[in-house]
Amino acid sequence: MQEICHFINGQHVKGTSGRFAEVFNPATGEQIAKVPLATPAEMDAAIAAAAKAQPEWAATNPQRRARVMMKLADLINEHMDELAEMLSREHGKTLPDARGDVQRGLEVVEVCMGAPALLKGEYMNDGGPGIDLYSMRQPLGVVAGITPFNFPAMIPLWKMAPALVCGNAMILKPSERVPSTAMRLAELAQEAGLPDGVLQVVHGDKEAVDTILDNETIQGVGFVGSTPIAQYIYGRACTNGKRAQCFGGAKNHMIIMPDADLDKAADALVGAGFGAAGERCMAISVAVPVGQKTADALVERLIPRIEALKVGPYTAGEDVDYGPVITGAAKARINGLVNSGVEQGANLVVDGRDFALQGYEDGFFVGPSLFDNVTPDMDIYKEEIFGPVLSTVRMDSYEDALDLIIKNDYGNGTAIYTADGDTARDFAHKVNVGMVGINFPIPVPLSYFTFGGWKKSAFGDLNQYGPDALRFYTKTKTVTSRWFSGIKEGGEFAFKAMD
Ligand code: NAD
Repeated sequence: MQEICHFINGQHVKGTSGRFAEVFNPATGEQIAKVPLATPAEMDAAIAAAAKAQPEWAATNPQRRARVMMKLADLINEHMDELAEMLSREHGKTLPDARGDVQRGLEVVEVCMGAPALLKGEYMNDGGPGIDLYSMRQPLGVVAGITPFNFPAMIPLWKMAPALVCGNAMILKPSERVPSTAMRLAELAQEAGLPDGVLQVVHGDKEAVDTILDNETIQGVGFVGSTPIAQYIYGRACTNGKRAQCFGGAKNHMIIMPDADLDKAADALVGAGFGAAGERCMAISVAVPVGQKTADALVERLIPRIEALKVGPYTAGEDVDYGPVITGAAKARINGLVNSGVEQGANLVVDGRDFALQGYEDGFFVGPSLFDNVTPDMDIYKEEIFGPVLSTVRMDSYEDALDLIIKNDYGNGTAIYTADGDTARDFAHKVNVGMVGINFPIPVPLSYFTFGGWKKSAFGDLNQYGPDALRFYTKTKTVTSRWFSGIKEGGEFAFKAMD
């Protein structure tokens, strides 16, 4: 069986802890690799080595650092199919979806090619007599990226590209369930010219993460994962004086107004609810039709579309709609939540619980489920299911639908389908959610904007990628300087010279 290594100082290094996590092919249920879980000593050593490599990288001019991003982007493009295949094998998503995963990460690398223009500081001359002020952006030092299983390429790239182009060194701790893609990206970064030690990939679980959080060298922590872990990491990192941005889970709603094009809304809901087996933090998991007539017509359109979904392994061809979920435990949890929905009185109109795929009986496949008449007190509404399950919560008015979303704990993404500009505008202004789609189901902003949720979907005050990421990964220093030759006699701050 393949034993995955850490990537430290540009080398593949075997783990020494003797502790491993299992890596599965979710389509077959077979264990395909084991990944070492770093000890605190291994993690501390990797951090110390990164600290040694960082100053020279920080002193490399920004244009040269940006050139590494350019080369990395070329290499990612060149290796797109290889990365997608590697990613699908460990994650289970379809190949087109895996290519999208790589592509959305690549787009952030592309924005980082232009980082020098964004890393410029500000300047003011003659802020007083002989006094000039300027500010500069300097890297934090050594930072950490801790990433989830559901986007094995995209989220590591969202973390590493901005951190590295700003002159930081990074410890990347990818999800132990999908470790190979991050390793391959680190190799490609090395091939692109990134000096050894500047990006260290160290695998691990809570023990490794806690070591990162307590290590004094680490200056910044970028986390993406579930809300309880995001909140925990944010608290511990901040208590230890680190800059932290921690992105958590989601429960994304789509309002469907009576004037919406219901066929388009139904198509969008099926793509956004069931794509990637619902394992997206921007998946729509709650449909909120306004009015009983709209709800009946919507559910009538959803049923045949959901029943027609093709579920299968990534190897079965490009027309597979979605693949297995990540583990057997995830499958059992999702089916358990569907059971709870039935027990608590929701109407299960499409039942995916007994789904089986011939030849893949041990795979972690979950059939698609659609609930109608879900109410906010039910577990299927309150929990992030992170599976192929769509809940319909019927509302009588737009105001009630908006209020439902406002009261929800999560605030990652949301959408409205309507033909009315006033309603759409009102929704965009009033909803307390970070990313909003208008007739657009998964409103992940393009890479030169920024990505981030509100409420329990994000802890910290800056978003991922775009200008916010460059702010997160740099500190501002402001210099006030005075040269005396231009100052008339007598003034500590001779503002009278300006009279
Ligand atoms: P997770 O929270 O289980 O794991 C994320 C990372 O934290 C992994 O690297 C894992 O090893 C580490 N980790 C797990 N338990 C830990 C602990 N007790 N202490 C310290 N570290 C720990 O999340 P996941 O299951 O890999 O990913 C799915 C979750 O991520 C979903 O909730 C999804 O909504 C969320 N997500 C959010 C965004 C976003 O931008 N908001 C994007 C993608 C995924």
